[in-house]
Parts: sequence; structure tokens; C-alpha cells
Amino acid sequence: SKEDVQTFFKKNAFVLFTVGAVIVGVVLGFALRPYKMSYREVKYFSFPGELLMRMLQMLVLPLLVSSLITGMAALDSKASGKMGVRAVIYYMTTTFIAVFVGIIIVLIIHPGKGSKEEFGKQQTIEQVSPADAFLDLIRNMFPPNLVQACTQQFKTKYSKRLVHEAVTVNDTASNSTNGTQEAVEAVEATREEVIPVPGQVTGVNALGLVVFSMCFGLIIGSMKEQGQLLRDFFDSLNEAIMRLVAIIMWYAPIGILFLIAGKIVEMEDLTQMGGQLGMYTITVIIGLLIHAVLILPTLYFVITRQNPFIFIAGLLQALITALGTSSSSATLPVTFKCLEENNRIDKRITRFVLPVGATINMDGTALYEALAAIFIAQVNNMEMNFGQIITISITATAASIGAAGIPQAGLVTMVIVLTSVGLPTDDITLIIAVDWFLDRLRTTTNVLGDSIGAGIVEFLSRHELRSRDVEMGNSVLEE
Ligand code: ASP
Repeated sequence: SKEDVQTFFKKNAFVLFTVGAVIVGVVLGFALRPYKMSYREVKYFSFPGELLMRMLQMLVLPLLVSSLITGMAALDSKASGKMGVRAVIYYMTTTFIAVFVGIIIVLIIHPGKGSKEEFGKQQTIEQVSPADAFLDLIRNMFPPNLVQACTQQFKTKYSKRLVHEAVTVNDTASNSTNGTQEAVEAVEATREEVIPVPGQVTGVNALGLVVFSMCFGLIIGSMKEQGQLLRDFFDSLNEAIMRLVAIIMWYAPIGILFLIAGKIVEMEDLTQMGGQLGMYTITVIIGLLIHAVLILPTLYFVITRQNPFIFIAGLLQALITALGTSSSSATLPVTFKCLEENNRIDKRITRFVLPVGATINMDGTALYEALAAIFIAQVNNMEMNFGQIITISITATAASIGAAGIPQAGLVTMVIVLTSVGLPTDDITLIIAVDWFLDRLRTTTNVLGDSIGAGIVEFLSRHELRSRDVEMGNSVLEE
């Protein structure tokens, strides 16, 4: 009836606007392409989209910190320990499955065929050794300065240094006319050496803030009355931020429309797409689809016995925001809203697993990195043996954990995967042309993985949550 239609529209207004924005964005983008806008014009045109990015990013920092602190403080250490273990097992399992899918798919489809000519010109990429990248990951977990962690993270750079050393030179005195000169002479020689220097780059060190907030939350959770002030403070900060998120959500469809249209206007012509790059793109899409549409929903169903697609429907806005922004951390506020309001996931779970998930759990990125590395091997006519494939799986997992939830971060951390099996890192430039697009798809997969993880961890933790409710008189948290 008419009323049904009306309530349907009211309930789903946001989702409809958002889906509409994507469609209009795509159409508008393609319609404007023939006008060949200048770089400046494109930037003006996409300005409403840039604003959305900035607004979402603005909220990430206080949201991440306040939600993790309140999330941890709301649990006793035993319960949060159990949930933490479940979350980590889920993250590791799904990441490994993703890597596995990526590898199988790229081996079956075999998109690369040992010729690089068709890829156009290449640039040089900065090299990072796997060991240094691993140390950076750990460094970032312990930021020496919290304020700095909000703006900077560590990244080892390499610098050249001249080393002076004494070298003994055998002076063949026989040729010399001067017989009195000593036969052996010590001289100063200089040699160039490349050394790793832990440096800083701009960007939120989310990992460091996550580690700190979790510890801090646990502590104030265990502090009885003395911690009450801090618990109330962060609880109310979190609530205030979520209200800001609710306001920004009204603007989100407009921002998404322009983000998508702007990107379509500015993208390069896909003339190369016929060859290997096209096959590669299709391979990545198939891999991500298998993981997102088949594996994750099946996992959700097997564990919770609930319909995964109803769960995913509740996430639609977060998924579209991920597609529009290419950033799982910018999407985090929307993910929170969807899971808490549409899917009714307990706040103690979302506050705890979503910020961690957005920072370290990136299924799409892991799948992508493994797949891309093997593609590059194929293009170079190198057959990867079993050991090398295992190495790729491990480094792809590490690279996905290390990647920040920002656009194209995965491309940067891929250097670790390539160097670990001796592939030329410069070849990352072969796939740069399509990365902006694949990045959006893997970001969407990342957000889906985090969200399904929240659903699964909640289901597995229902006993702890219930007994905690009873203990607390079942009031405070069930707003
Ligand atoms: N853009 C991705 C994300 O935010 C990371 C990546 O580049 O893979 O999740």
C-alpha cells in the first residue's frame, strides 16, 4: 500500500540517496569526460567530494580513541581478553583465506605473460627491506609521543653515507725510482654505504593510538570508582562524536557523488586495458568477489546461522562510502553507524573490534598484494616455487597489517612483498594505472571483512556480554 511505500522510503532514505549518488556520479562523470577538463577544473569540480573526505577524516581520530577506550573499559579484562583472542583469530583466518584465494586465482587465470612492452613507461620506486618494514610496524605500535602519533608515523628511509676506512695498499716499490719509500702504505679510502634511518612521515599513526587506547581503556576499566570520571568522559566524547557523524551522513551522498564523478572525469583513457593489465584487473575483481560474496558470507552463516545478506544490506552505506573514499579509516564513522543502528551490534563489540579491524584487518589488501606480486612475477617470466609462494603469503599478510587505511596504501607496502622474493620493485609502476580503481574495491572488501568480524565476534561473545549485563544490572550500555 501507499503507506508501506512511504515507510519504506523513510526508513531507507539514506541508503537510497547513497545508491542514487553512485549512479548519478558515474553517469555525470562519463558525460563530462569528453570536455577534457584541466587539472584545476577537475579539482574545483570534485571539491564537494574533497570536503566529505576531510569531514570524515576529521572525526577518525577522536572516534578511534574514544571508542576503543570506552569499549575496553566496558569489559572486564577476562571478557575482553576472550573477545580479543576471538577477534585476532578471525582476522588472521580471514586474512590467510584472502591471500590463499588471491594466489589460487592468479595462478589459474595467469594474467601475466612475460612481456612488459605494453605497459608504457616506468618510474623508480623507493626500496624498503622487509626487515626494516617489520621493525617500522613494531615501532609504530609504541609511539614515543602521543600528540605526534596523531600526525606522524615511522617509516624507515635510506640514506647514503660516506665511510672512511683505513685500507692497506701494497706499494709495488720495485717500479718506484725512490728506493727509500716504504713498501706498504696505509691510505684513507672512502666508500659509499646505504644505511637505514628510521624517519617520520605524515599521517596518523593509527596502530600506535590503537595500542595505547586499548591499554588505557583496560586500565581505567579496572580502576573502580577512581576511573569513573575518565570512563564517563570518554563515553560522552564518543557519544558526541557519533552525533557529529549522524550530521555528516546527510552530506555523504553529495560528497560521494562528486568523489566518484571527479575520479571518472580525471582517469586516464583505458586504452591499455585490452591486454595484460585488463586481464589483471579482471583477475583481481574475481578474487575480491569470491572473498566478499562467497567466503565471508558463508563464514558468517556457518557460525551464526543467520542470513549474511541481510547483514550485508545493513552495511550498504558503509560499503558505498568505502568505494567512494578508498579509505577504510575515513569510512570508520559510517561503519560504526551502520553496525550499531542497522545491524544492532552491541556497542561493546563495535567500539572494540571496529577500530582495530580498520587498522590491521585488511582482507582485500592482503588478497591484492599476493595476487599482484605473482602477477609481476608472471610478467617477468619468473616461476614462483612453493617456498616463494609461502613467503609471499606471509609478507602479504604483514603488508596488509602494516598498510594504513588510506587511499592506495597497499601499493606502498607491496614493496615488502616484492623484495621478499626478489622481484623488481620498480614493476609496481606496471599496475599503477589501474590501482585507483582496484583500491576502491579492496577497501570495500576490507570494510566488509571488519564488519562481518564484528557480527561473528558478537555472536561468539554473547555469553560474556549477557553475564556482564546481569552483573551491571543491565542498564548503562543497552541505551
Ligand atoms: N585503501 C585501502 C584501505 O583504506 C588500503 C589499501 O590501499 O589497500 O583499506
